[in-house]
Amino acid sequence: MRNVIFDWSGTLVDDLPPVVEATNAVLRHYGLAAMDRTRFRREFSLPFTAFYERLLPGVDIEELELVFRPAMAASLEPVTLIPQALAFLERCARARCRMFVLSAAPPEAVHAQAADLGLSHFFEVIYAGVRDKRHRIAGILAEHQLHPPDTVMIGDMRHDVHAAQAAGIRSIAVLTGYEFPEVIAESRPDITVADLSHLAALLEAGRAELF
Ligand SMILES: [Mg+2]
Repeated sequence: MRNVIFDWSGTLVDDLPPVVEATNAVLRHYGLAAMDRTRFRREFSLPFTAFYERLLPGVDIEELELVFRPAMAASLEPVTLIPQALAFLERCARARCRMFVLSAAPPEAVHAQAADLGLSHFFEVIYAGVRDKRHRIAGILAEHQLHPPDTVMIGDMRHDVHAAQAAGIRSIAVLTGYEFPEVIAESRPDITVADLSHLAALLEAGRAELF
């Protein structure tokens, strides 16, 4: 495991509070009822274009983003580190892993959160605002000459696992984020861990051959 591509939301940070708030701003804007956190986790999927096509068929995604992005930027809801994330990033840094972020969240939000939480320096590049990770990931591998057998993608949603599969790299699912365990299991990740401390424990236990 020399190169790690991390998903952002639900994998390294808990940004559900502002994301739910901004999503509800969109839903209210179009006359739909707001969702609570659990309902949002049940309904939301990536690519988000498909999620909105289900809820608001025919509404232009650029138009939705004109509501979503300012609501996300203006939200005072907290974004916090996933408790086990910092120790895992430090472990990867000590092991000289090359680290990247591949996120669908708005770039301005991801970069601001990374700076606020002191995470920016861990990553060679943060790719954010990516509408479909399946279509972007191979380009990232090529651009940075990341050898697929040495590269993993870690994420909290089926879409992250599908992106890894599209690029022919190993997928690791964490259960700290948006999708419920039985939902992300549908995508058949190579490994599923409760959180990143369990992944570190697997690596410490010499199960690195898994990767
Ligand atoms: Mg995520």
